[in-house]
Amino acid sequence: MIRETFPVGLLGCNTTILGDETSREAIVVDPGYEIPRILAALARHQLTVKQIVITHAHIDHIASAQTLKQITGAPILYNKADLPLVAIMDTQAAWFGLEAPTVLPPDHSPADSERITVKGIDAEVLHTPGHTQGSLCLYLPAEKLLLAGDTLFAGGIGRTDLPGGNDAQIIASIEDRLLPLPAETIVVPGHGPDTTIAREAATNPFLT
Ligand SMILES: [Zn+2]
Repeated sequence: MIRETFPVGLLGCNTTILGDETSREAIVVDPGYEIPRILAALARHQLTVKQIVITHAHIDHIASAQTLKQITGAPILYNKADLPLVAIMDTQAAWFGLEAPTVLPPDHSPADSERITVKGIDAEVLHTPGHTQGSLCLYLPAEKLLLAGDTLFAGGIGRTDLPGGNDAQIIASIEDRLLPLPAETIVVPGHGPDTTIAREAATNPFLT
């Protein structure tokens, strides 16, 4: 599998491209900003976007989803429990002094444990509320890879002081859904460097 992760925009949201080497089909996760750079990476790998997945509806993760959909025709998937955050996109933009992007309801709201697939790639949705009510992680068992959004970071967890955030819930999501994954699973957080489940289970100060 092809995987490319790079930070985009002022807030450094990690965008990840997952591509199958045979079918050339791809999933783009969290296309927050820098569409030209995302399109260049897709072209370099000769990939066609079939699914656009948003880990949660914070502006830095979702801002350019609609633009990418218009260009590629791929549907946008995120959990509808984040629609209250979409409704305050103007406020979210004001928090960071950004322009409010056009954000629409999802084409599909994936359920917990639902599989999101393109030819050659099979990802499982883990609903992990706490950073936001709709927060989801994508787990690729064949790759032992977790795209964690803003639920789990290297040495940290997502903030819970924004609307829809809940302290106890994010800890429960991590402990119940993420820590049971294979220890060697590579974790790609929504911001910052990669880590592993083993490392976070052993050293993350927010997890006991
Ligand atoms: Zn966030």
